[in-house]
Amino acid sequence: MSALLEQMYKEILLEHQKRPRNYGHLEHKTHTNQGHNPSCGDQISLELQIQDNCIVAVRFSGRGCTISQASASLMTVAIEGKTIAEASSIAQAFGAMLHTGQTDSSLGDLNALVGVAKLHTRVKCATLGWQTLELALA
Ligand code: ZN
Repeated sequence: MSALLEQMYKEILLEHQKRPRNYGHLEHKTHTNQGHNPSCGDQISLELQIQDNCIVAVRFSGRGCTISQASASLMTVAIEGKTIAEASSIAQAFGAMLHTGQTDSSLGDLNALVGVAKLHTRVKCATLGWQTLELALA
């Protein structure tokens, strides 16, 4: 990865940590779940409004490291307006990226987390929001 790309990815993560998207609570939530990553102390609370198999709205709140919070923020942007099936396929592609360390053009800004693939102890930080989502939908 070029130094320029690495810098760009870092800025995306810091930006999402500073100004998390879809942060807060939903009035008409249909699904909720809380996730906790004890190895780092990250916490995520997720609220979803699902209608006809479509994620019409999503909000999260939480605290923890930049990776966990930026990943959750990026996740909400990626899944809002998607069907449950589409959201699971994004989750799978994201998991694959963290496993292989290869970016995936279909993942857009989520590629900013590709560097985590090399930091094995931080993978759980990056996947916390996604696991919380998966369990909320289960
Ligand atoms: Zn963390």
